[in-house]
Formats: sequence, C-alpha cells, structure tokens
Amino acid sequence: MEKMLEEVLEENRALAKQGKVASYIPALSKANPNHLGICIIDENKNIYKQGDFDVKFTMQSISKVIALMLALMDNGEKVFEKVGREGTEEPFNTLYKLDLPHIKKPVNPMINAGAIATTAQIKGDKIQRILELIRKITENPSINYNKGVYLSEKATGEKNKAIAHLMRAREIMDEEPDEVLDCYFKQCSIEVTACDLAKIAIFISNGCKGLESYGEIDRKTLSRNLLAIMTIGGMYNISGQYAAEAGVPSKSGVGGGIMAAVPGRMGIGVFSPPLDENGNSIAGYEIMKSLSQRLNLSIF
Ligand code: GLN
Repeated sequence: MEKMLEEVLEENRALAKQGKVASYIPALSKANPNHLGICIIDENKNIYKQGDFDVKFTMQSISKVIALMLALMDNGEKVFEKVGREGTEEPFNTLYKLDLPHIKKPVNPMINAGAIATTAQIKGDKIQRILELIRKITENPSINYNKGVYLSEKATGEKNKAIAHLMRAREIMDEEPDEVLDCYFKQCSIEVTACDLAKIAIFISNGCKGLESYGEIDRKTLSRNLLAIMTIGGMYNISGQYAAEAGVPSKSGVGGGIMAAVPGRMGIGVFSPPLDENGNSIAGYEIMKSLSQRLNLSIF
C-alpha cells in the first residue's frame, strides 16, 4: 500500500505546478506549493502515510463538515429548516440569489453562506465546542486554530461579512452576524495534518461510532447526512463531476486539503496547496481519482 501511495503522489506531483495557492486570504499565500502528503486509515485502524502527511495546514472549508456535525447534534434535522441539502451550482463564496424573495435558505452547508447559517445553530461557546469535537475525534488534544490566519480572514473577509449580514437582514439567520462570523473565521483557521483529516474521515465513514453523546440525532442519521451532503456539495460546484470521477464523499478546503470518507472502508486525508479555479487542490483531486480507480473506492 505505501509503495502504491508513493507512486500516486509522484505521478501527480507535477500537476500542482498548474494550480495556484490561495491568495485572497493573505496568510494563505505563504503556503509552500511543494508540500504533498497523504494519509489513509482503514476500518481496522491501519495507517498508511506518505510525503508531507505531518505538515500542518488550515482546514478552511473542511471545517464546514464539523460545524454541520455539531449543529446536527444540537438541533437534529431541524438544522435543515435554515440551510438546504441541495447541490452546489455557484462558486462557494457567492451571495447570488440570497436576496431573492423566494429564497428562504442557502442551498447547502458546504458553501460559505450555508456554513455560516450552520455555525449560527451551534449552541454555547461555538468555537470551543468545535475544537473539543475535533480533538476528541482525532485523539489529538493539541489541535487549535492559527491566530495569524484567523486575523487575516477576519481582516479581509468582506464577502463573508456581506453574506452574514444579508442573511440576518432577510431573517434567514437569527443570530448576531459578527459573533457567528468570528467563529466561522476561527473554524476555517483550525490547523490539521493529512492524518488528522483521515481520522475524522474514518469516524464519519464508520458511521460516526464512538462518541458518548449525539444530542438530538442518532449516529446513523448523522453519518448519512454528512456523507450525502459531502457527496452533493463537498467539492464545490464540480461535486457532480467529482462524484462520477472519484465517487467518494469528500470535502475540500482552500488550504489545499481534501478529506475523503469511503463508507465502511477507509478515511483519507490529502494535502497539496495549489488549487484549481474552483478552489479544490489540483493534485489532490487527481490523487483521489487515481486512488479510487486503483482501490475501487467509488460508491456508485
Ligand atoms: N475561509 C474560506 C472562506 O471563507 C473558506 C473557503 C474554502 O475553503 N472554500 O472564503
């Protein structure tokens, strides 16, 4: 397996040169474009890793999965009264349609508007609870957010601020926009490694087994929602193409990470910072396609 992983990384290494590291959040432009790593954890807890699997990077949009997990635990499927479960058509940071009278909620929790509406529904100290949940699932108590990236997101996140305030004005979101945004910027700035992502992914793909409490939702309903929503929106507006080509419920982030949950089989974390025009790791996408073919991972 490790030999195969090395091959897959080497085959796709040159591809990263065709992508661009995210720069619209200034702190992200400092990422090393040459980093490339992968970690796979199977259902028997065997770990296979290769390349820069222990380099830290920020979760960015991958944190949307954790926010959704916690909002579902707190509220059950009532969450979907405020955010939809339909496919992504537009870029992840769009405000488009949010001001149309017939639109009552953002399309899904994997775009920024939907994630903000999801984070709004987390009870108590939102960021502390997100951090605690990730630490528990990854068994890594050192997980935290990166202050520099958080401040950079906060200073430049005008579109996210516009989205949150528009949703409040339209009564899509009831909570105070700046408080929700503060948590959103912090959750995006949480630092993980490819192996942390693989741990979260195996937790989800194994049916979310193992936590003491699920709050308002049972673990099967929780894992089915997460897997379904990752499938329809986890790779932004090319989630359908990715479903056909790789066929694994996945979530990407503009930090260059992809977290992929193969139901009942394995969790995968991939990391390579240069992105395609949609915001997905360009090498990460192809690595997932290649792994899917070699290991027969597609759920379709
Ligand atoms: N923090 C980023 C943003 O809000 C997250 C987006 C992403 O990873 N696609 O723009």
